[in-house]
Amino acid sequence: MEDVDPGIDEIKATLHRACQSPLYKARLCNVKIKDFDDFHKLPLTTREDLQSVDIHGTRAVPLERVCHYGETSGTSGKANSTWLTTADFTRNAQAIAARHPDVFSAGRILLNRFPFMAAPAHLIQLMAQQGAGVSIPAGNINWDVPFPRALDLARRTGAHVLAGFPFEPIILAELARAQGLDPARDLALDTFFLGGSPLPKVLQQRIEKVWGARVIELYGSTETMLLGTSCLQRSLHLESSQAYVEILKINSDNPASEGEIGRLIVTTLSIEGSPLIRFDTGDRVRRLAPCGCGDPRQSIVVMGREGDEIEIDGHQRYPYEIIEAAAAAANALESSIFFTVVLPDRLLIRIESEKEDKSHAYAAIKRYLGGMNVEIECADRGLILDTETLSRSPSVYKPVLISDWRAEMGRQILSIDQGMIEWPSLSFAEGRSWLNRTIRRSLRSRRLRREI
Ligand SMILES: [Zn+2]
Repeated sequence: MEDVDPGIDEIKATLHRACQSPLYKARLCNVKIKDFDDFHKLPLTTREDLQSVDIHGTRAVPLERVCHYGETSGTSGKANSTWLTTADFTRNAQAIAARHPDVFSAGRILLNRFPFMAAPAHLIQLMAQQGAGVSIPAGNINWDVPFPRALDLARRTGAHVLAGFPFEPIILAELARAQGLDPARDLALDTFFLGGSPLPKVLQQRIEKVWGARVIELYGSTETMLLGTSCLQRSLHLESSQAYVEILKINSDNPASEGEIGRLIVTTLSIEGSPLIRFDTGDRVRRLAPCGCGDPRQSIVVMGREGDEIEIDGHQRYPYEIIEAAAAAANALESSIFFTVVLPDRLLIRIESEKEDKSHAYAAIKRYLGGMNVEIECADRGLILDTETLSRSPSVYKPVLISDWRAEMGRQILSIDQGMIEWPSLSFAEGRSWLNRTIRRSLRSRRLRREI
């Protein structure tokens, strides 16, 4: 059995590394700890603390050793800055590849849909460079790889793994269907490696059913890097080789009990660029019982961020619970396409479905959200996820400074911006159906706004 928790020496080493940064030099340089009891008395590091120092405040190594800068935008326009070394990335990439050797190995094709600014995009690239597959860099928040092209890339390359946000397989499945394809039959994808937003089991099961593929959840943050991945039983296990994690009660600094929701506090063990000591991630997690898969490491459910709780009529829920309930309701209506609107007196869950009988969907909502006031609204195809608009992706070109209007095939352009991007023009029929959907959506919005 592997050693689950780090020894105090590893913690001391992290403390020593952290004291090289301006942030911790000021806070912890004279602190001596003997054991975990001492360590647990150290002050928490909050996001506000990270934002209170300048852009280099968390950096604990000379700039010459850094290879990567990342940041997340915090409140009031300030950013949390993270500086990482090549070794920081290497340790994370090796940890993921070692944990999932059946998913990441030589010859496996990895469609990398994580956006360029997110660290996982770079981890997938690095894993491939270390021999764990062939990466296709195809970031999704990017003009040059819109969804139809991503689907096309997956088909033509016979990609085995898609790494990206949880909505990726849902959108690609709809696009595939619109093209007359069966995602499970016509594509070779066997694994989705997903992170970045809540991924309840019911949503995982839906994706697995539609695609005939396994879902693995990836959890981490820009500040902490890798924190965990899920096992075959769909439990998210904390990656204890990379981070020492405490789960504290919401209203006190005592550890949360099993089943309880608490604050996730992280001490990075494998980061030398911007190490963090007892960092309050702001994430709320539920501490689970030991997992049946036999992995001794702590497993958790990530409920959402502090302050993201939604309260309606005295019932308070985390984003995870809302998405879980909405996915279950959609599943009851044999749909994957849903969208939730939070109104003053109720949740409005909109689901693309032609089913008339919503009783199973309401039963699912009751099971997950209890007495919270919820309305389910079924919408026609295309009103919640418009695959036609998604398919009308723009053409993107390299910037040019010369346009030759004499050439027969060349594009006749007049400006730099015109040279870079070109939207396809609508035919009359396309324009009419697009207009129809837009009008129906804006009428629905207007009715809702009037009601509020
Ligand atoms: Zn497990």
